Amino acid sequence: MLLGVIADDMTGATDVALMLNRSGMRTVQTIGAPRAGQALPEADAVVVALKSRTTPVAEAVADSLAACEALLAAGARQILFKYCSTFDSTAAGNIGPVADALAQRLGAQVAIVCPAFPANGRSIYQGYLFVGAVPLHESSMKDHPLTPMRDSSLVRLMGAQTKASVGLVDYATVLAGANAVKARFDKLTGEGAVYVVTDALTNADLMVLGEAVADHVLLTGGSGIAMGLPQNFRKTGLLPARETAVSLKAPEGRAGIISGSCSTATRAQIATAIEAGYPSLKVDPMELVSGRQDAGGLAAWALEQSPEKPFLLYSSDDPKEVAAIQEKLGREKAGETVESAFARTAALLAKGGVSRLLVAGGETSGAVVQGLGIGMLEIGPEIDPGVPWTRVAEGPEMVIALKSGNFGAPDFFLKAWGLLR
Ligand code: ADP
Repeated sequence: MLLGVIADDMTGATDVALMLNRSGMRTVQTIGAPRAGQALPEADAVVVALKSRTTPVAEAVADSLAACEALLAAGARQILFKYCSTFDSTAAGNIGPVADALAQRLGAQVAIVCPAFPANGRSIYQGYLFVGAVPLHESSMKDHPLTPMRDSSLVRLMGAQTKASVGLVDYATVLAGANAVKARFDKLTGEGAVYVVTDALTNADLMVLGEAVADHVLLTGGSGIAMGLPQNFRKTGLLPARETAVSLKAPEGRAGIISGSCSTATRAQIATAIEAGYPSLKVDPMELVSGRQDAGGLAAWALEQSPEKPFLLYSSDDPKEVAAIQEKLGREKAGETVESAFARTAALLAKGGVSRLLVAGGETSGAVVQGLGIGMLEIGPEIDPGVPWTRVAEGPEMVIALKSGNFGAPDFFLKAWGLLR
């Protein structure tokens, strides 16, 4: 094992794992820190999915340190602390405090701060983070319910979360190449900086930065920065050339879809699947509360369908309907009702022989993964940007894809199966 990644949420973990896999590192994802003595499959990178983005600071720090210990014990030579490409955090953290704790544990002299992800429109110029054409604080992130981002200067944002000093490697230096960036790191650390925000506008910039941080023990950033890391391990002969898997072998069994995502992209995908004749059942939160629908009934319905086409269980609805349900039940109760029903349904489906499962929705995915008792995932081929098939390496014998709500083309539910053998 070469690279250990600590990700602050589940779909972010899958995102960075896919990036590494595509760049030629065999990658596994564990749900929570690997336990002492837990056997890990042979892998070049291990990504630990935590739920530490918005938890209390002390808990986020403790979980991240535990993950770091487990990754070091598994042989990691470099640790990447992965957070969101929109730097989702508050002045209290959790990015700064977690980075501080990891830097101290690893004895890091310097660590980059680089959430850039050009493929998704996240770029950094003069230390300011842009989302598409607008600075972060003008993007929809300004109104995020948990982590509203009201500043775009990463130097200031990081500076508010740490006592350590924060420097900047500007774009002209990145354009001058890896040696110039390294020289700037030395100059900045000489002046007392520990964290260095790095400008990046393109994938080529991320490759330059990747080369420049080859000997850093700690990196912090989004999944984009992972793109430039495999080249370092290849150069030193630690990583053989690997082909990216184009398909994944699935165990015998039935196929199905669970969707709790109400996002626009998912609703279009559901319409396409229904049009294609997938047997489908709409799950209604009010029916779940009254007990007229329950996990046992949902699973029984799914398993009664002809296995020729994947079944589709969905609670997804348009914003007006969702608002009406939330009005009746309260936002939290509505979400929890659906999530726990799907978690229990998924467990029954796995017992009933379902071996290929697509799950739509970030929170829904977390609930289903928990319901299935999944401890580890091996990353497989990419269905659409940011969404890979994964093989369950610890838990029920199955393959599963976890789709964040707004990801994927309208035919996502139709084309995913073609990547399975
Ligand atoms: P996304 O990735 O699209 O945001 P999530 O699964 O993260 O999807 O979030 C969707 C939330 O909405 C979940 O908590 C889910 O339980 C809840 N939900 C799903 N269907 C309904 C519905 N019909 N009414 C109200 N809430 C719903």
